[in-house]
Amino acid sequence: FDALQQQDPEIAGVVLNELDRLRGGLQLIASENLTSPAVLAALGSTLSNKYAEGYPGRRYYGGCQVVDVAEEIGIARTKELFGAEHANLQPHSGASANLAAYAAFAKPGDTVLAMDLKQGGHLTHGSKVNFSGQWFNAVSYTVREDSELIDYDQVRDLAREHRPKIIIAGATAYPRLIDFKAFREIADEVGAIFMVDAAHFIGLVAGQAIPSPVPYADVVTATTHKVLRGPRGGMILSRAEHAKALDKAVFPFSQGGPLMHSVAAKAVAMKEASTPEYQAYANQVIANAQALAKSLEAEGMRAVSGGTDTHLALIDLRPVGVTGSEAEARSDAARITLNKNAIPYDPAPPMKPSGIRVGSPSVTTQGMVEADMAEIGRLLARAVKAAQGTAAGDAELADVAEAVSALVARAPAYPRP
Ligand code: PLP
Repeated sequence: FDALQQQDPEIAGVVLNELDRLRGGLQLIASENLTSPAVLAALGSTLSNKYAEGYPGRRYYGGCQVVDVAEEIGIARTKELFGAEHANLQPHSGASANLAAYAAFAKPGDTVLAMDLKQGGHLTHGSKVNFSGQWFNAVSYTVREDSELIDYDQVRDLAREHRPKIIIAGATAYPRLIDFKAFREIADEVGAIFMVDAAHFIGLVAGQAIPSPVPYADVVTATTHKVLRGPRGGMILSRAEHAKALDKAVFPFSQGGPLMHSVAAKAVAMKEASTPEYQAYANQVIANAQALAKSLEAEGMRAVSGGTDTHLALIDLRPVGVTGSEAEARSDAARITLNKNAIPYDPAPPMKPSGIRVGSPSVTTQGMVEADMAEIGRLLARAVKAAQGTAAGDAELADVAEAVSALVARAPAYPRP
């Protein structure tokens, strides 16, 4: 870091300011985490320099004998951790992993069945602004309006009607467990590939805190930077029979050279995730998300589906008469970072949705437990209800920001040595 400070103080300043931001506030973005110094060290290494198109032992460049070791170790650790027959650590992101999975099993024009974006699905699950919606005939399933749980009867009906090539389970804003067995049965009935996009919850699977999709799915795509707490990136797990098609779909079909520093950092994260400490972390993440949801409900808000089984809760703010955008801005002013989010069957427009999404991965990494989450819930509720822009509201937000500072001082992100 000294070299960066000397050579480029502007960017060094950005790095330090971001560290200050992380240390000074609460990160409740459900898709973020705080990686370990070991992961960051691998990311900031000379492995970034190496071109290594291809796979270990089968590269299109010389000099890959060293980086090969990192990828081999990473693949072995990943297969072991998830009990998977095949692992590919090269996808640059979750979206890249999904692109490769589509490419391995479908051709443009084919039908895919996935969760509606408005109800918690991801852009890569068939949105019209994404390759998935432009190149494929995307059919969407929803959650039930009464329970706000996935409507498995509708998934079956749509699968029978549209005979999709791929059925996708997994979402960006769904707080509950997914019934992988039910999806598998539907996929088998219509002869579809069953793909699980486990981007959000793969870390909970790694920590054995929730059931694994691996025994049920043909292919599991994921990100490595959410609960899993690795570097920003993607990965693919699959049955051995699909290994070749998936590897080819990553390289050379959709990517060039892998980011070897990132592959090495993924290997480090897999080692960390194989420990009893990480299993305790994954369970605490869920307990904390549940405690936060309960605390917000006690403050008059509504947890979509009545709570959470995972690392995130979707909070309906209509009972307190605040929009998701207002809540995001007010929380920001109180040093609490979260995102506005549509709720199922949201009557409000996407840029002013009725809800927020809150997650516990980062604060749990900081060592926070249920009692801290109850306090976070109370502070967040004060922020959300503060009439920003009025003298009283702004004073309240400043007050909450101070309380947030005191809270994070007790359990800091990246504690100073
Ligand atoms: N799939 C799901 C379900 C996600 O939630 C996300 C990201 O939030 C992705 C894929 C894409 O990951 P990335 O942002 O790394 O491309």
